[in-house]
Amino acid sequence: MYFTVRRLSLAQPRHSEDRVRAYLTLLIDGKFLVHDVRIVETNGGLLVAMPSKMLQVRCRACLRRNAVNASFCNWCGCRSPGGRQAAEEVAEGPMRIDLAHPLTPLVRKELESAVFNEYLKALEHGLQGGSQDNSGAEESL
Ligand SMILES: [Zn+2]
Repeated sequence: MYFTVRRLSLAQPRHSEDRVRAYLTLLIDGKFLVHDVRIVETNGGLLVAMPSKMLQVRCRACLRRNAVNASFCNWCGCRSPGGRQAAEEVAEGPMRIDLAHPLTPLVRKELESAVFNEYLKALEHGLQGGSQDNSGAEESL
């Protein structure tokens, strides 16, 4: 399995709390594209964040979807739309889940290596706010 960074854009942080450093598209084995991969700076260093989605619950009153941690329903305004179950989910686990991710530490290491190499190249070439597109490189493989 090999990973190629197809497109990489350095993020332009607007606030000091913004932690996303780059957005990229990942090509797996030259055959499978994954969009919305991010490089995020944490207190422990850089990490590759896979595409994810916010967990949601249905409002008990109007049955529309809200974020699992919502205090009020965005649609009908009722208090604690997910009820006790949602509150327990927030307390127990993450509010976002990855939509795709490596299954083994080895694959994660390979993925991170490919991503961080391209990220460092982008930094060296000063792609601030720009985009590096490697799609042409794939066709020669
Ligand atoms: Zn509601």
